[in-house]
Amino acid sequence: MTAPLACDRPPGSTCRMLDEPALAAGHWRDWTTSVETLLDRSHDHRELVTCNSCGQFWLWDWHEVTNWTSGDDSSWAIFAAVGSVDEARALARDSAAIASHPRAVYCNRPGDGVETTGRVKGGES
Ligand SMILES: [Zn+2]
Repeated sequence: MTAPLACDRPPGSTCRMLDEPALAAGHWRDWTTSVETLLDRSHDHRELVTCNSCGQFWLWDWHEVTNWTSGDDSSWAIFAAVGSVDEARALARDSAAIASHPRAVYCNRPGDGVETTGRVKGGES
C-alpha cells in the first residue's frame, strides 16, 4: 500500500487532502505552512495552515483526551477548508461549526485502537 504523502495540486485547485483524507494522518506539517495560531492550550489547539502546493487554507482543530489508566492518549483532529484568514478566525470560535463543516476531513487516533480518517459528516460526498 502506498500512502499519499502530500498535496501536489496546482494553485487554485481542490486540495488533495479533501479528496484523500488519509493525508490528515500523514506528515502534513511537511507540505503546509503555519499562518496563525488561533487557540493554544495543553490539550486543544487551533491553527490556520496553508497548503504549500495548492494554497488552500486549512483550519486545523486538534483535541487530546488524556487516558489516566493506560497512558495511551487519544486525539482527534479536523481540518476544515476555509477561504480566508478571517473565515478561519471566525470558525475557530465555533466548535460546533468546525465539527459539521461541509468541507472538512478528520483524523481520529484512539489511544488503544486503529487510526481512522475520513470526511466530516455533513460534508460533501
Ligand atoms: Zn493542497
